[in-house]
Amino acid sequence: MNPHNSSILLIYTGGTIGMIENPETGALENFSLEQLQKHIPELSQFSFHIATYQFDPPMDSSDIDPEVWRRLVQIIVANYDRYTGFVILHGTDTMAYTASALSFMLEGLNKAVILTGSQLPIGVLRTDGKENLLTSIEIAGALDEAGNSLVPEVSIFFENHLMRGNRTTKINAENFNAFRSFNFPVLARAGIHIKYNNVQLHPHDVHPKLKPHYLLDANVAILKIFPGIQENVVASILNIEGLKGVILETYGSGNAPRKEWLLRRLSNACESGMVVVNITQCNAGSVEMERYETGYQLLQAGVVSGYDSTTESAVTKLMFLLGHGHTPEVVRQQMCISLAGEITV
Ligand code: ASP
Repeated sequence: MNPHNSSILLIYTGGTIGMIENPETGALENFSLEQLQKHIPELSQFSFHIATYQFDPPMDSSDIDPEVWRRLVQIIVANYDRYTGFVILHGTDTMAYTASALSFMLEGLNKAVILTGSQLPIGVLRTDGKENLLTSIEIAGALDEAGNSLVPEVSIFFENHLMRGNRTTKINAENFNAFRSFNFPVLARAGIHIKYNNVQLHPHDVHPKLKPHYLLDANVAILKIFPGIQENVVASILNIEGLKGVILETYGSGNAPRKEWLLRRLSNACESGMVVVNITQCNAGSVEMERYETGYQLLQAGVVSGYDSTTESAVTKLMFLLGHGHTPEVVRQQMCISLAGEITV
């Protein structure tokens, strides 16, 4: 397909990629999209149209929250028919959360939404931002013979790899190779050629209809188990007023200490309508609560499996499902179903 038919909306939210060093203080400060374009003159060499949308002021991704995810969905919805793909420049710290949230909020997505950023600011000679941005745009603009996007889903492009957004985690605070998709193959690799993993990519919906969702309920918490964890710590989390869901980060294949108080507290929480989802602290692999007694007891307490979910995906999916106002039973059922390719059941 002629790439002239592509057009990209580049949404600049902020992050290191758009920063420059203050010569006096040495601190990194945001600069504008215009300056960004000045540092990457190659942008003008794409044969297709690239329009831009800038957050003003740009945000460090530590400040990004569900309100910003809603805003991003609104921007994409408002421009959906006008562009063939979207590239979101985003700080790396919470990029995997945003990508996960968008994958649930943009139901029926049939175009590429690629998040990227960098470890070194674009104004620095050895920046990784240039390569990440240019390749993201190229992939977002890639169409098949019929004019359909090659990557009709929310993904993250970083250091030569295109990964499913809701499968990706930031794993390194300083290497260029900062993101990993441990439990799902990469969607594309960029070398001399960009090689797409067609078997793994979301298939094209023949009746595409974008169905945006805006409701999220952030009354959730993450409870990480560790040897020696005390009852009052667990109790103080499970008793938070208004809390509706907990992501329980357990050991290995979903195991937790066999303490009477832990099971009692979890079981009471589940009975009173709290949704407790078990995911593993390990980077790779899946929860299998039936495997050991120490996992089985959680299943009996009413905890549901998050399978091979990343923390980022589990948290945002829980917010998304709770935002729909579903009953705890429905939320539990849906947590165990893949909604956007986020788990392998
Ligand atoms: N603190 C920055 C952010 O997440 C880090 C980065 O972009 O890499 O916005």
